[in-house]
Amino acid sequence: QARAGTPHDQDRPARQSILRLDSNENSLGMSPEARKVFARSLDVANRYPDGHAQALCDALAADLTVSPDQILLTNGSTASIRAIVQSFRQNRPSTAEGRVVAQDPTFGIVERLCRDLGLAYHGVPTGKDFAPDMVAMEKAARKDGGPVLVYMVTPNNPTGVVAPTPALFDWIRRADEETIFLIDEAYHDYVDAPSYESAVRLIRDGHRNVIVTRTFSKLHGMAGLRVGYAVAHKDTMADLSRFSDGWNINSTGLMVAKASLADTSWRAHCLRQNTEARTILTDTLDTLGLGHIPGHTNFVLHRIAADHADYKRRMADHGVLVGRYMRTGPGWNRLSLGTPDEMRRFVDILTDFRRRGWA
Ligand code: PLP
Repeated sequence: QARAGTPHDQDRPARQSILRLDSNENSLGMSPEARKVFARSLDVANRYPDGHAQALCDALAADLTVSPDQILLTNGSTASIRAIVQSFRQNRPSTAEGRVVAQDPTFGIVERLCRDLGLAYHGVPTGKDFAPDMVAMEKAARKDGGPVLVYMVTPNNPTGVVAPTPALFDWIRRADEETIFLIDEAYHDYVDAPSYESAVRLIRDGHRNVIVTRTFSKLHGMAGLRVGYAVAHKDTMADLSRFSDGWNINSTGLMVAKASLADTSWRAHCLRQNTEARTILTDTLDTLGLGHIPGHTNFVLHRIAADHADYKRRMADHGVLVGRYMRTGPGWNRLSLGTPDEMRRFVDILTDFRRRGWA
């Protein structure tokens, strides 16, 4: 029943009925323990957040088996990535010297930063089933010599594909010190592959040219609170921290992130729900004869037999937000996974679309 009240209240029913399957968020929301801390954070909102930043750094350091001075907290991992690219740019006297190599397609932020900062960006096409072409990437990175920043998103967005750990680690181990690896592990928490290992291991082993970024925006369900971080060797971190403001996260985000980190049972619950949501979707895709890429994230890249712009518009008309077009070539859509109930709603709509020839 619609309630009379503020304009915000009146908006609510319409907003709730929209299925938001476009931005790789956690539809289940934050951990119940984290919500309690969120409420308590109101009591300290008048104070500067330093102590909370240190507490979160300490908790993350313990979790990752690194020291707190190896962690940079930022306003979402986007801000870590910006700091890394800026530091790479700033440390090179001329643009001709710095190049960035990434797989294509991948998350677009680094390419945009390169345009802003005047760095050359080279996207190396992915291979079969969107697997990163490690050989071609290494070749592109080595070409012409000189400093290069490798941006490796693993698992990748928008494909969900994990870069093979042995090949990536071998490449990093034989690379010269002018090759810097930015390993974006935004979806690390979702990976369920025995052969996968986080690149934090290489940082623990002492590699100065590896920086890993992570976020609380995905499995932790905190996209709106903006908490992310980078991990690196402490010397690398000393340079990187020059490109980030010390007090750039609010105390609420810091406190909630720490509580969320401690709530492992909520994360396990979210992972189970994600798997269930994925199965509901992929079973239907199989039934409808629409291919999909096996992935390790909270989204699925799948075939559509329709023009993407038409598909997206028609889905929006039916109250569903699907992913935007992401250089995957025609006939693909990236769909974020919602709750199992949301996915049941979605697959009914998709099945109807298929019947009408719209998908
Ligand atoms: N990296 C990847 C691969 C992403 O997909 C995203 C967001 O979708 C981000 C980084 C940025 O996340 P945030 O700034 O919310 O931490």
